[in-house]
Formats: sequence, C-alpha cells, structure tokens
Amino acid sequence: MTAHRPHDAVIGLDLGGTKIAAALVGTGGAVLARHTLPTPAAEGAESVLDSLAEAARKVWTPGVTAIGVAAAGVIDPRTGTVTSATDTIRGWAGTALAAGLAARTGLPVACDNDVRAAAAAELDGQQVADGGGTTLVYAAVGTGVGGAVAVDGRMLHGAAGVAGHLGHLPSPEAEQLPCTCGATGHLEALAAGPGITAHYVRTSGVAADRLETVAARAAQGDPHARAAIVLGARAVGRALGGLANALGADRVVVAGGVAHIGTLYTDALDAAFAAELLPPLRALRPVPPRGGHDSAVLGAAALPRTLPLHRPHTNGARR
Ligand SMILES: [Zn+2]
Repeated sequence: MTAHRPHDAVIGLDLGGTKIAAALVGTGGAVLARHTLPTPAAEGAESVLDSLAEAARKVWTPGVTAIGVAAAGVIDPRTGTVTSATDTIRGWAGTALAAGLAARTGLPVACDNDVRAAAAAELDGQQVADGGGTTLVYAAVGTGVGGAVAVDGRMLHGAAGVAGHLGHLPSPEAEQLPCTCGATGHLEALAAGPGITAHYVRTSGVAADRLETVAARAAQGDPHARAAIVLGARAVGRALGGLANALGADRVVVAGGVAHIGTLYTDALDAAFAAELLPPLRALRPVPPRGGHDSAVLGAAALPRTLPLHRPHTNGARR
C-alpha cells in the first residue's frame, strides 16, 4: 500500500437517505468542485453504489488519489462493509461499500459512518488548534442519537465498527421505552426528535407529528411540550457528562437538528451535563460543531488519510 500524499486531491462522498453529496477536496481542505445526486434508496444497494460512482465521476479530475465515503448505518472501516443499517436504503446492511465503489471507479476507497466522519473533521481542526491529543465526545441528536468518540486523538471504531453509538446507552429517563434497536430504556428512545415528540404526545394526550410542532408549542408556554424537550435534553446532558468523566474528555460536541430547537433545550442539556462532572472537568461545556455545511464531505475526504484503503481488484472487489 502506498501512503496517500497530502497534497493530492481526494473525493469526499456523503451518502444520506435522500441525497449523495460529492466534493473534490484539494490541499488544506479547499472544496474545488461539488455535485449532488438523489439517493436511489428504494432501488437497493447496487443502484446506490452506481450513483455514488456517478457522483464521484462528476467531480473527478486527473490527480485524484482516493475516495472517502461517509455513510449512514454501522460501517466497519476495516472490512469496508455496512455492518448493519435501517431500511432507509433497501438491502443496505451487508453491502461491500468500499470494494463495490473501488471496482466501479478504479480508485482506492476508505469508508466510515457519517457521524464519525464529521467528528473526524472536528478532531482534525481541534488537533491543529491545541497540538493534538484531544479526547472528543461527539453526539449527533436528530431523528436518532448517534455519535463518535476519540481518545487521546485517536478515533475509536471498536468491534464491528459499533463504537460511538451513544443513543444505545441505558438512560434512567427512558426506562421501559422501546428503542429502535429492539432493546428498552435506551437514550435514543427519549432523546431523539421522534422520542421527544412521542413523550409529548403520551403526557399531553394531544397529537403532534414532529419535533418542530412540539418546539412551537413549548415557545407558547405549553407545559407538556416544555417538559418533553427538557427531559430529552437532560437525558443527553447526563449521558454526555458521564462519558466525559469516564473518558476524560476535553471537548464535547452536540450536533444534529434537535440541538437547534432553542435555548430551552441547550440550557437544560448544559445544566444536566455540568451537574455530572468530576471536579477536574468542571469548566467543560458542550459546544456546537465548528464545521459549516461542508463538514460532511470534508470529513469524508479526510477518511483516506487515517483509515484502511480498499483497492480495486483486492479485498474481493469485482469488475
Ligand atoms: Zn437502543
């Protein structure tokens, strides 16, 4: 394996349930070209691999040395496969993501979970700022609760690539609630957007189909809406505070749409987080991600520098 040379251009691909974002990323993280395609999620994994390859071709230029892919689901960077996934993309679990894309493009491919890729970009920026060694806890609170953890500057992947799935920590606030993973009492069941909405509906007896509705009612003073938002925020804050203690975190990031619903949420999260901290960590507070709207593709483009590259004609790749 030849090392990836940092002055070479890399293609970053961010695969979501509805769209594929591609970017050609040059020296120093400059985005040189962009393209977006819809994700043919209903057509299945092979069609999605075809579309990823097409998106890569749209931004390709001579001198591109590798592709980095950030994708939803549990991704194992070592095998380059999708360990498990929801049915957002039909047949996505078990897909040989890296080998399939390497075979289609002729380029070496590195892949990881999308949240971990965004966290890797965050880690990169932080290590430049403080000289390295960051212990980062990164939570993404949206339609689910995902995350990533880096200890002393090294991103953790763990068995089957599962490390960082913070949503499946046991949470006292979520006791008895069924989780998307099949277990009960996990953080995600109460703290993800649908979990907050469901809690509001349970306690108020009033219908609400989305978090924005609950947030709007909270802003008008609805006590059930306020309580559901505060409970979800507190559950995340407590879990993150506990993780900060366990790992010795020096940076804690809360990303994702739920964190944007306002200060009712962030104040409750921050207070619950701070209440958990051991004395040496007491100055620590959660912060929003530093990356802008390009952070997903930039994180993807950074993957080939640190993760195994899966090459065409190896690792079982077929043409
Ligand atoms: Zn779970």
